[in-house]
Amino acid sequence: MGICDSCHSGCCRSFAVPISGADIHHFTHRQNLNFWDFACRWEDTEGLISRNLAPHFLFEDDPETPFVICLKHIPSSSFPGTTKCRFLMECLPDDEHPKGLGRCGIYQNRPQTCRCFPAKLNASNELAILYDIPSNGRDGEPAYDLCSRQWTASDLDPNDTIQSLVIARYEMTFFSKIAMIWNQSPGAWNQFPDFIDRIYSNRIASETREDTSADTVGVSDNSESHKRAA
Ligand code: SF4
Ligand code: SF4
Repeated sequence: MGICDSCHSGCCRSFAVPISGADIHHFTHRQNLNFWDFACRWEDTEGLISRNLAPHFLFEDDPETPFVICLKHIPSSSFPGTTKCRFLMECLPDDEHPKGLGRCGIYQNRPQTCRCFPAKLNASNELAILYDIPSNGRDGEPAYDLCSRQWTASDLDPNDTIQSLVIARYEMTFFSKIAMIWNQSPGAWNQFPDFIDRIYSNRIASETREDTSADTVGVSDNSESHKRAA
């Protein structure tokens, strides 16, 4: 039995979960979800959500405030007055599980950030480091209690874990380039989904005989056309 199997998923209640443009594109195109049903922007003036990985975006209605694009939270049924990830399914409490059980409703399609928890890459990006998990993720509310014990290496598959971390870092690095383009002239929040969709729907280019430079063209080279298109 895995460490999460008997848990009410305090992690999916406590944390703002950053998502990348690739996650957004996956949800909207592969899961047919509406952006406004799963995404939100969280203020992050202190960088506690970004953690030097997820990019900050600015918006014209509040251009001084950095935001991180995250999974949306909704009110919890099991713990009134608290919130949870909108994808978290809550099972009723019983004698064995007094806080109930939590299950991810999109487990096979969850964002890279969720796949990586509770690990991060080391300084050389070659090894995974397990976070020291606190007993509670927010203000002491039982809903936000976290793991019943510290994670160990044997809780995770070493290769899957590293690969998830590398993909997460790659996608957030790319998303940061997109943020630099967007932040040059911050648009309205309601323009953001179309902007992201246009960028991520055009990540693949074909090489032609006449022009073999496609593999040297980066997103920054197209920044003006992306912004105009958005
Ligand atoms: S997507 Fe799934 S794993 Fe990630 S926070 Fe939401 S419920 Fe938890
Ligand atoms: S709080 Fe810890 S044990 Fe519970 S679901 Fe999250 S990672 Fe697993």
